[in-house]
Amino acid sequence: MKADIVTIFPDFFRGPLQHGITRRAQEMGLAKIQVHDLREFTHDRHRTVDDRPFGGGEGMVLKPEPLFECLESMALAPREDRVAGRVKQSVILLSAQGQRFTQKVAAELALLDRIVLVCGRYEGVDERVADFLADRELSIGDYVLSGGEMAAAVTVEAVMRLLPGAVGNEASTQQESFTIDVKAKSSGAADSTCGSNGLLDYPHYTRPAEFRGIAVPEALMSGNHEEIRRWRRQRALEKTFRNRPDLLEGAALSEEDRKFLVGIRNAIP
Ligand code: SAM
Repeated sequence: MKADIVTIFPDFFRGPLQHGITRRAQEMGLAKIQVHDLREFTHDRHRTVDDRPFGGGEGMVLKPEPLFECLESMALAPREDRVAGRVKQSVILLSAQGQRFTQKVAAELALLDRIVLVCGRYEGVDERVADFLADRELSIGDYVLSGGEMAAAVTVEAVMRLLPGAVGNEASTQQESFTIDVKAKSSGAADSTCGSNGLLDYPHYTRPAEFRGIAVPEALMSGNHEEIRRWRRQRALEKTFRNRPDLLEGAALSEEDRKFLVGIRNAIP
């Protein structure tokens, strides 16, 4: 996969993408990341990338010309082919107004050959970029950042760890929080494992078995695989119920899971 990042702060990416799995994915040749300095696509002495908004109001807005020129220099497939899915490319504008970036979106992007991430700044980006240049707008959460750089780094990290081979043990990315096994969900055969299937992850423990008087839960020490599976599944259900009940609706739940949830709900006074 190739990831192109368009930004007015190219140095920002010297740190975040040079560690851990993102670095590994690049070293293994699974991914290539290219950072484009938007100012290189300006034509005035001051390398101007922003201007005042029409209609008045606060702040400055990123101008369309450098962004269009920058993306045109990348020899991407035409936008209509990208949007129709005829090519495995996507141009993404990072924006607080975008659709929510989720694990599902990360998994979709991980199937592509090329993603282009456009980082906004100031009050945002001339809307013609969203309407005619980008294929989609993505938001990493319901809060406002000062620029799209953090959001681009988050997106790249979440996508690259899903590239086959990027994480040493691939099964671990299939059983994490938010991950849904589509086959299990559609066949109703959920919960063949203790894995996520749309729930939050179950709790993890490591040595020592007792730390400052706090012992690791007995079930995990039992060596009984079925007991461990059930314990993990129930803790994942409890944690999801407590912290993110909204996820239960989309999760792949077995009859056993549903009964357990009824028990938790009934236990609430
Ligand atoms: N005026 C905009 C609004 O109220 O929606 C906020 C602009 S923000 C200060 C500047 C840039 O930061 C945006 O153009 C976008 O690229 C980025 N940004 C801010 N919040 C973001 C979020 N939650 N997800 C992705 N990008 C974000």
